[in-house]
Amino acid sequence: MTTAVENVTFTEIPPLRWETIECNLCGADNTRIYHRETLPYFDKIVDFEIVQCRECGLVYTNPRLSDYNAPYLFTDGGGEEKYESHAQAKSPVFQSALKQIKEWQSDLNGNTGGSLLDMGSGTGHFMQAAIEQGFDSYGIEPAPASADYAINQLGMNVFHDDIYTIDLPQNHYDVITAWDVIEHVSDPKTMLERCYTWLKPGGIMALRFPSSTWQKIKGVILHQILSSKRPSFGPTMHLYFFDEKTFKRMAEDAGFDILEILTTAAEANTNNLVLDGIKVVSNYMIRGIEMCTRRHLGNLEVYCRKGK
Ligand SMILES: [Zn+2]
Repeated sequence: MTTAVENVTFTEIPPLRWETIECNLCGADNTRIYHRETLPYFDKIVDFEIVQCRECGLVYTNPRLSDYNAPYLFTDGGGEEKYESHAQAKSPVFQSALKQIKEWQSDLNGNTGGSLLDMGSGTGHFMQAAIEQGFDSYGIEPAPASADYAINQLGMNVFHDDIYTIDLPQNHYDVITAWDVIEHVSDPKTMLERCYTWLKPGGIMALRFPSSTWQKIKGVILHQILSSKRPSFGPTMHLYFFDEKTFKRMAEDAGFDILEILTTAAEANTNNLVLDGIKVVSNYMIRGIEMCTRRHLGNLEVYCRKGK
């Protein structure tokens, strides 16, 4: 097995290492401040700026902590109890996504199942659910603790590797999924381009990520109205924030046809009644606003296809 980041001692607190980047969607370097957030990062309190590209509208953390600093590479992830309760909370999302994928496969190709690659497969629970639905599941996961759990506790086929350097066969997978992953990666454009090459012609790619608009609403409520220190954008780990328009443009630039964009609720999984209550209430609020404005605001779930 290889590690995603070389020369890192995972038990030590990492030094801060910053990098400034250009827009990953259009290449411009012309931004405005979208939101400011102050967060603890191990033993430090750090100020972050989330910016929006004036040319294309993409929202991203800039400057940002480099990949070297990704907290999930340094933490143990919480262990079995936390992994299993998180998986239980996610289960309805996984089941509904698998149903959606199979419906698209059936409509477009006349058959379902085949090989599925889960990007950022974490603890392997989605891969396990996919196997139960007839898929041959594979995963890529750079975080050592969750990759280890998926491989050694659930018996999953996980490449503990880096999505930018891993060597996978082209035109090979029937389905590629990325649940709550694209907001974490350092170069989503290259990630989508690589996924496109690995997918079979006619294959389906499915992703889920929080919308930039929803993060901003949460940020205004938490930071400007409630003076809370809770993260909204979470820029210690979250680097990109898409809305329908910016994601669609990036996916189409990579070659994909967009099949469908849905909104899914934020699952209540904090084991904190107040926070879970806020999530439930906010989900109803989002639904109401979406019905009035006809805009997608919550977590976005996108289904794309590689043309034949
Ligand atoms: Zn741009």
